[in-house]
Amino acid sequence: MLNKNVLWDFTYGVYVVSSFDGDKPTGCIANSVAQVTNTKIMVSINHSNHTNSVIKKDGYFSVSILSEKSDPNIISVFGFTSGADTDKFQKIKYETKNNLPVVYDSIGYIILKTTDVIELDTHSVFIGEIMDGDILRDGVPMTYKYYHDVIKGRAPKSAPTYIEEEVKPQTGVQYRCKICGYIYNGDITKEPPNYVCPVCKQPKSVFERIIAV
Ligand code: FE
Repeated sequence: MLNKNVLWDFTYGVYVVSSFDGDKPTGCIANSVAQVTNTKIMVSINHSNHTNSVIKKDGYFSVSILSEKSDPNIISVFGFTSGADTDKFQKIKYETKNNLPVVYDSIGYIILKTTDVIELDTHSVFIGEIMDGDILRDGVPMTYKYYHDVIKGRAPKSAPTYIEEEVKPQTGVQYRCKICGYIYNGDITKEPPNYVCPVCKQPKSVFERIIAV
């Protein structure tokens, strides 16, 4: 039987994949990004992500490489809100490179032209020819493990690596963010009304109490 924990031992980075929806920049977080040939890179994006259809229309996309020092807000905005109803780049500073949006607070970027799209049941795998790219500043690239272990982030449900985690409540009261899975230890009702989830920045109302069994 599959031990799902073995999947946590794959290594990934954390990236923002972006494109232009007409003249509106949009994007989403991706961790399944890999160089597959000397000149090509693949990214896997869920069918439900707005960015998926935008890349299909535009034919070009960029990959911004996040570092351990990149603002965690970038992950909140690009990972846990939808570009269909939010102008994500209104909240996150970007530059335009080769007519594509690139996250300013990243350590580098790659510009890609879509050459192949492989449709899987839940995701599209976009293969892109590398057109351009550059290093923007020094920094340690953020790994998915760092995001999990240090930022205490979770995968959105649309991520290829999403695993339904079994939550084993400790003794005492715990709450779970229904959006990102963040666990709050203690009685969240004692937090002020403006409390927001530290990972996805959603309000207190999205937390549900975990009942011990
Ligand atoms: Fe959250």
